[in-house]
Amino acid sequence: MRIAIIGGGAAGFFAALSARERYPDARVTIFEKSGKVLAKVKISGGGRCNLTNAAPEISDLIKAYPRGGNSLKKLFHEFSNMDAMKWFEAHGVPLVVQDDDCVFPAAQDSQVVINCFLREAQRLGVDVRTFCGVSALVPSNGKWKLMFQGHDRNIEDYDKVIVTTGGSSREEGFDWLKKLGHRIEVPIPSLFTFNMPDEPVTRLMGVVVDDVKVSVESSRLNAEGPLLITHWGMSGPAILKLSSFAARHLHQLNYEFNIYVNWLGNSDHGEVTKTLEEIALKHSKKLMTNFRPFSLTERLWAFLIERCGIIVNKKWGESGKKDLNKLVEVLTHDKYTVRGKSTFRDEFVTCGGVSLKDVDMKTMQSKVTPNLYFAGEVLDIDAITGGFNLQAAWTTGYIAGHLR
Ligand SMILES: Cc1cc2nc3c(=O)[nH]c(=O)nc-3n(C[C@H](O)[C@H](O)[C@H](O)COP(=O)(O)OP(=O)(O)OC[C@H]3O[C@@H](n4cnc5c(N)ncnc54)[C@H](O)[C@@H]3O)c2cc1C
Repeated sequence: MRIAIIGGGAAGFFAALSARERYPDARVTIFEKSGKVLAKVKISGGGRCNLTNAAPEISDLIKAYPRGGNSLKKLFHEFSNMDAMKWFEAHGVPLVVQDDDCVFPAAQDSQVVINCFLREAQRLGVDVRTFCGVSALVPSNGKWKLMFQGHDRNIEDYDKVIVTTGGSSREEGFDWLKKLGHRIEVPIPSLFTFNMPDEPVTRLMGVVVDDVKVSVESSRLNAEGPLLITHWGMSGPAILKLSSFAARHLHQLNYEFNIYVNWLGNSDHGEVTKTLEEIALKHSKKLMTNFRPFSLTERLWAFLIERCGIIVNKKWGESGKKDLNKLVEVLTHDKYTVRGKSTFRDEFVTCGGVSLKDVDMKTMQSKVTPNLYFAGEVLDIDAITGGFNLQAAWTTGYIAGHLR
């Protein structure tokens, strides 16, 4: 049996190794467009490669995927994050799990992951060919012929083809797959930070708030987690998560929208009102700017007080109902205008790709045409940061390599 893997990234290598282990007599060839395989693995996680996430349950794991989570559920029962961790450890890559469950090689260097794949590919006799960009797949008596970019030369026939070409920010990047009858979900960015050129809050750049809830106006889209104020707007896990879950919606709004920030996480209006009323009674002699009831930084608290129009030397005892109401509103439902986005420095993932409707999500085989399989980011699957995107590449690559 001849197996062609198109794309020498994370999913391509995992699919190749999985196929070769299952079918030891098969000839497995990886065709890579560029001169370098595993280039994204190299830069992943800031060069340290956050290769998976140690979320304890599959039900927790799938929550990290705004697109594809439900389809991945069954696949994770076959090859989960725990299986991936065992796989790497067994193949000479000791791991460390951070407090936030992100998993990295103990060497803190993505090169050890690359070395592991190259070693395994050589041991199993996987043929890796670079500068081989595939431009078309042509059916040929139940098999496939590959056409290559630049020189439209087709060589051997392949019994099975696994497409692992990764994400593309341009829809045209999927044209050759569209021609085979596959529907494509329009690719758009996910994982970005919010630009707020008109918001004075950027004065507070560098301030981190541990637990906020951010919601998009007139929608049910929200996310919780730490928030970082930057010189251009807002970033941090809560914003990145929201950008991922709201990717399609925000794209439709042309990245011009309003958000509401609850600086106190999940605390509601009633709770916060009660706390502030108690303070106004108990600490009536203290200045509002000096006595901070919540664990917000001094700079942020002063900014929020100013935002309410409360004068600097007002004492808690002098605050009226109007001041307290305004303060509660600003603490729990603070409105900001977003105008544009910026790509997050460490990670860029495409939302969209080959529609899961046309893929059998038990086997990764195309429902449109037989003997064609998909794995990795070429599919309409993507996740928030934390090792989940690479985990999707391992899992779908592993299953696609079974060639069921
Ligand atoms: C800067 C950055 C940091 C990241 N950090 C992390 C992280 O720490 N943890 C995490 O989980 N995720 C991370 N991600 C996301 C993660 O890297 C990707 O989700 C993952 O690499 C996808 O793997 P893939 O094999 O599907 O695609 P890719 O890694 O993109 O590989 C696809 C390969 O196919 C090749 N190719 C494309 N078209 C063709 C063609 N026509 N013919 C032949 N070859 C072709 C490409 O050249 C490429 O080598 C990061 C992404 C970026 C950009």
